[in-house]
Order: sequence, then structure tokens, then C-alpha cells
Amino acid sequence: MSADGFGGFINMAARLLCLLGFHDYAVVSRTFGFGPSGDVEKVECRRCGYVTARKP
Ligand SMILES: [Zn+2]
Repeated sequence: MSADGFGGFINMAARLLCLLGFHDYAVVSRTFGFGPSGDVEKVECRRCGYVTARKP
């Protein structure tokens, strides 16, 4: 294992989590909605950059 082997392992584990759908989301913007759909947050994964929308 190289000197940065542990960091490489962390990156690999993080990437695996992303592949499994467990992203590390940060909120990019929030849309205020009305009715049953309500507000929606736009979130981006800090690790892989995957963008999606979710309920706050
Ligand atoms: Zn991700």
C-alpha cells in the first residue's frame, strides 16, 4: 500500500457509496412551490457532482 493508500481507500469507499446511491448532498438552491408538491430543494453531491431534486 502506498503512502496515500488510506486516502485512496476513502475515495474508493466514497465512490462506492455514490454508486449505491448514498450521495453526500449539499443544497444548491431551493424552489418554493405551492400545492401538494410544495418546496423542492436542488441538491448536488460533493463527491461525484450528481445533481437531483428532493423534498426538504
Ligand atoms: Zn455522489
